[in-house]
Amino acid sequence: MNDTAVVIVAAGKGERAGGGLPKQYRPVAGRPLLAWTLQPFLDHPRVGAIQLVIDPAHAESCAAVIAHLDLVAPVGGGSDRQGSVLAGLEALVPHGPDKVMIHDAARPFVGSGLIDRLLARIDAGAEAAIPTLPLTDTVKRCRDGMIVGTLDRSELGRAQTPQTFRFASILAAHRQSAGASLTDDAAVAEAAGIAVAAVDGEEGNIKITHPDDFAEAERRVGRFEMRVGSGFDVHAFCPGDHVMLCGVAIPHEAGLAGDSDADVGLHVLVDAMLGALGEGDLGRHFPPGDPRWKGRASSDLVAVAMELMRARGARLVHADLTLICERPRLARHQPAMRANVARLLGVTEGRVNVKVTSTDGLGFTGRGEGIAGQATVTMEVPAACA
Ligand code: MG
Repeated sequence: MNDTAVVIVAAGKGERAGGGLPKQYRPVAGRPLLAWTLQPFLDHPRVGAIQLVIDPAHAESCAAVIAHLDLVAPVGGGSDRQGSVLAGLEALVPHGPDKVMIHDAARPFVGSGLIDRLLARIDAGAEAAIPTLPLTDTVKRCRDGMIVGTLDRSELGRAQTPQTFRFASILAAHRQSAGASLTDDAAVAEAAGIAVAAVDGEEGNIKITHPDDFAEAERRVGRFEMRVGSGFDVHAFCPGDHVMLCGVAIPHEAGLAGDSDADVGLHVLVDAMLGALGEGDLGRHFPPGDPRWKGRASSDLVAVAMELMRARGARLVHADLTLICERPRLARHQPAMRANVARLLGVTEGRVNVKVTSTDGLGFTGRGEGIAGQATVTMEVPAACA
């Protein structure tokens, strides 16, 4: 049930963070901040349309971040944050979402638990829900360098994003309050008389504002975890004079049948890469019968999987492929296949292994009906994405 849309406000100039480029496009551990911010929403099963609001002057930087991601087309922002949110909400109208989360691009570490808590509160009947954190420091009222009072901090909370609303009511509230210069969307809701519920925020849901915050973000995403993906595939022989395996043309009295070049070696490799990334299977990314993939070299599929890996900030550690057939005899082609897989993956040959085996004359491979393959890929994936 993906009835929840997301507006991510990324139109700011982000000058306080230093470094020239607006902060949302600056890299954190080799990956733009905005890509980190998008990930938890892309991964959440209840999130449907994701609407980015950007400064059109940065359309190129944005396009580089969102290539291959499942987003609706970004829209240009307004003259201030409130105007940008309104532009994002208006762009979502045709999608007809029931709920919307409004989120700042500068908060890259939203936990899936926080998204769950916010949606649960709306499901339970709240019109709006925002994450808040208690204050641990005592809060003083200051004037002209003097303390003039002490506030009761038990009643105060620090507001975070994503702030979550019934779509129709926050859209109406934003239209009504356009130009009123309120600092968050909860304030827009409050001004419209919408009751806003508070749910527990997350200390880890930091906002990147100053250069030091980038250092803190780097420390967090510097933690990787090991993932293992597996792949399996079979292609049948058909009339032809060669087979493509691991991107190497190997002469044979038959070819392999399939939409692309039927390279079972690269198919299992890509399948295993998708497995390690939690990105579904080959069929999801390259639907059978899709004219875009008809007759394409399977190295193009590897390139797409590499792009998904890069977008995640993940690193391939090792790929181990096994090709299973009686004929053609593949042993003497092993070095070329290994070298080509390493080249496609941009790693040294030491990180790639290609094995060939037969099934002792048994089964469909034994009867010479086709070639089977399997692969295992190990990958380091940023723990912040888990
Ligand atoms: Mg295949």
